[in-house]
Amino acid sequence: MSAIWDFADFDDHEVVHCVRDHASGLTAIIAIHSTHLGPAAGGTRFWHYADGEAAIRDALRLSRGMSYKNAMADLPAGGGKAVIVADEARTKTPAMLAAFAKAVDGLAGRYITAQDVGMSEADMVAISQHTQNVAGLPGQGGDPGPYTARGVFLGIEAAAKRALGADGLKGVRIAIQGVGSVGGGAARYCAEAGAQLILADIDTARAKALAEELGGDAASSADILFQAVDIVSPNALGAILTEQSIENITAKAIAGGANNQLATGNEGRLLQERGILYAPDYVINAGGIINVLRKIDDADDEAIYKRIDNIPARLEAVWDESEKSGMAANEVADQMAQKLIGR
Ligand code: NAD
Repeated sequence: MSAIWDFADFDDHEVVHCVRDHASGLTAIIAIHSTHLGPAAGGTRFWHYADGEAAIRDALRLSRGMSYKNAMADLPAGGGKAVIVADEARTKTPAMLAAFAKAVDGLAGRYITAQDVGMSEADMVAISQHTQNVAGLPGQGGDPGPYTARGVFLGIEAAAKRALGADGLKGVRIAIQGVGSVGGGAARYCAEAGAQLILADIDTARAKALAEELGGDAASSADILFQAVDIVSPNALGAILTEQSIENITAKAIAGGANNQLATGNEGRLLQERGILYAPDYVINAGGIINVLRKIDDADDEAIYKRIDNIPARLEAVWDESEKSGMAANEVADQMAQKLIGR
């Protein structure tokens, strides 16, 4: 096993805490990538890993991702992430959560946590009994999905303008993969703006019902990415943009809220080579985190929506630089984020 700073995802993390509590059996990692723009903010994941190295790698990768995401969303926040290492039975006790909360509190506001995979709203409330440094609690802004959907819609509009020269979405054909909280919300906005929708979800009844309601069509989720449309909007799973899938996409732009859409990261280049405009996922889907982190500077709903309104400008800047430099949009976004955090 190599030293932690030799991990590929270490990328000059400011500090990485390993937390162990003998009494409760807690093992956790709190990774703080950057506090350059403000307190390191990012959720807590509760997950069972194959081994300790995988847990550390995940914490580092996610924490750096939060630095980039928060910076590109113009938030006064740095990036961090916590991982609670679950045993095979996924045992989660109040004592464990309390020990974790006290560890977060010990960082004196340098790290602000929030809900992530494997943690419930009730878990976050339990954590908040021992530390103030929790964002996104019930009553503090609610479900991030609708805010993410708003940003995705604005990003789709920006993509239509850039890739099609369209002023608005009237008549623009959009295929939406996944019509849950984000995809469904974005579909409603797009329909309202006059777009022609094709919707798909593994929950076929859900896609069909929404298509009927919005006057669009439903398609199978197996080939939604390959529809004869102008824009594809992935809002379900990650890693859907692969060498193979990209070959078969005929749309002019990809703009959706799903996390980690590029299977390896190199696919950004392939999209560029094929002349397909790509809205980097963490830039277009930042509406949710903008809402979750409202407590950092006591932003009200008006301030939140103002920040979300900036998502298209951020995308434009990425696309301008991509055109100028010849770099892929995802690479440009990472580079811009690094600059913003003083790297
Ligand atoms: P959700 O669970 O509300 O909706 C996801 C939908 O996708 C469901 O209807 C599900 O049936 C469908 N789905 C799953 N697999 C599919 C497949 N193979 N093909 C077609 N449909 C499929 O989740 P959500 O909150 O809308 O999140 C969607 C995506 O956006 C996820 O990748 C999530 O990580 C990302 N995201 C969400 C937010 C947020 O605020 N909720 C913020 C940033 C990123």
